[in-house]
Amino acid sequence: MARDASWWLWRLLFPARCLGCGRRDHLVCPACYASVRYLPAEVCYHCCAPSPGGRLCRRCLGTPSSLASMRAACAFEGVVRKAVHAFKYRGQIALTPFLGDLLGQALARRPAAANVLVPVPLFADRLRQRGYNQAALLAHQLGARLALPVAEGALARTRATTPQVELSARERRANLRGAFACPDPSLVAGRAVLLVDDVTTTGSTLRACADALVAVGAARVMGAVVAKEL
Ligand SMILES: [Zn+2]
Ligand SMILES: [Zn+2]
Repeated sequence: MARDASWWLWRLLFPARCLGCGRRDHLVCPACYASVRYLPAEVCYHCCAPSPGGRLCRRCLGTPSSLASMRAACAFEGVVRKAVHAFKYRGQIALTPFLGDLLGQALARRPAAANVLVPVPLFADRLRQRGYNQAALLAHQLGARLALPVAEGALARTRATTPQVELSARERRANLRGAFACPDPSLVAGRAVLLVDDVTTTGSTLRACADALVAVGAARVMGAVVAKEL
């Protein structure tokens, strides 16, 4: 991407510093990138919690879901946690390539036969506040890498929901019931959808999205996130 003069002036006045260690001229320096803890190969295929043989974990066994499978690149900790926070809450969209690269690695390790990428949507008020949907930025980055279209309008959040991190597993499900809708089913009907988000804890947001997509005729719904809260 071409950088204009104001970008270079900004960089001169405020050199980037690594989110992990503070080293100059990197948003994430090579040493901190090398410290990222990737998930083990054997994780539950619904929520990415470590699970022997990659079988469904006990929590997911008791929670039937339209989500066929899920991928996560790494643990939500260290420089990845800092990067996701800066990306989401401090407007640091320059972190899109770093986080998108991690996401791409998760798909390289476990490919998903998808026709279309769908980002997990924000509620309209939240989108206005933030100015961008971080999941959509990641979906476009991944779409360019996998040569797949991104259907941003396929899913909508129909109401504001409490941040999932503040809730128990039971409350999470109730919080999300009916929270997602598909305004234009033709974008996903008969297609294999790969849902994209930044972080997952229990997978309940992606499951609620998958339920809404399958209800309007998506053939198959898979999920991909950068990081899993372990
Ligand atoms: Zn560093
Ligand atoms: Zn699980």
